[in-house]
Amino acid sequence: MQIDLHTHSSASDGTQLPAEVVRSAAQAGLDVVALTDHDTYSGWPAAEAAALELGVDLVRGVEISCTHRGISVHLLAYLVDPEHPGLHAELVRAKDSRETRVARMVAAMAADGIPVSLEQVHALAGEGATLGRPHIADALVESGYVGTRDEAFAEVLRNGSPYYASHYAPDAVRAVELVRAAGGVPVMAHPFANARGWTVADEVVAEMADAGLAGLEADHRDHSTRERAHAHTLAARLGMFTTGSSDYHGTGKQNRLGENTTAPEVLKQIEDEATSGVGVVSA
Ligand code: AMP
Ligand code: ZN
Ligand code: FE
Ligand code: FE
Repeated sequence: MQIDLHTHSSASDGTQLPAEVVRSAAQAGLDVVALTDHDTYSGWPAAEAAALELGVDLVRGVEISCTHRGISVHLLAYLVDPEHPGLHAELVRAKDSRETRVARMVAAMAADGIPVSLEQVHALAGEGATLGRPHIADALVESGYVGTRDEAFAEVLRNGSPYYASHYAPDAVRAVELVRAAGGVPVMAHPFANARGWTVADEVVAEMADAGLAGLEADHRDHSTRERAHAHTLAARLGMFTTGSSDYHGTGKQNRLGENTTAPEVLKQIEDEATSGVGVVSA
């Protein structure tokens, strides 16, 4: 069983439509794929239809942008009730704040003569997508300012860049509680990926575990061997499972579908713990 529990579509910052992500999953030989767009469920219906057509099982999820005292935390939430009012309100607030934040970043860049406009970013992101820095990167590639998304992130879009702006994100511990309240299963994405920026201390992960965190995404390409090992050890100590995933973004990142995978028993546990009534879509 090949199970990949972390992918993005054009509903956020992936480059493929939700149905195309599922098609690519089928072509890559995956049995199960989770769609986990940033702060939105809007890709679910199209992905469901494709999963039924192509015979790939679909885990409906979302990757919630959170913070803990200023440190960015990404929380994967599987099989949540998309209509839970509290969680829905947080996602809308984060998504709206991302719009304002991208507008601020683009305005600051344009003021310094960097060839980018908000209209261009919106056109590239498409209607309704959760906006993020990758869409600004796409605009910079289109303008010829950089060659790739990676180059844009290495330079003007990096965390410490003068053009960087933050956006609203719920507290990570509260988000874990909200996901459980919405009947979903919370798993911390790439918890120790220091290459991406600051990561939280073990004590914070323990606090999240007390609040209901179910697992840690240990096997992820942004983790070094040591960071993977640490995630496995800490998860075991705190009574949580571990997952492995690709964090596929289409052609927007190097990540390949199925490059890390999750054990079938872990998927079974996710299904057993979900109380939302939102099941795995299976043909
Ligand atoms: P944001 O959430 O808007 O701050 O942007 C972060 C997003 O950019 C995450 O989804 C990352 O997957 C993506 N990202 C981070 N670094 C890179 C990179 N070097 N190339 C492409 N995408 C990246
Ligand atoms: Zn992303
Ligand atoms: Fe992430
Ligand atoms: Fe992701």
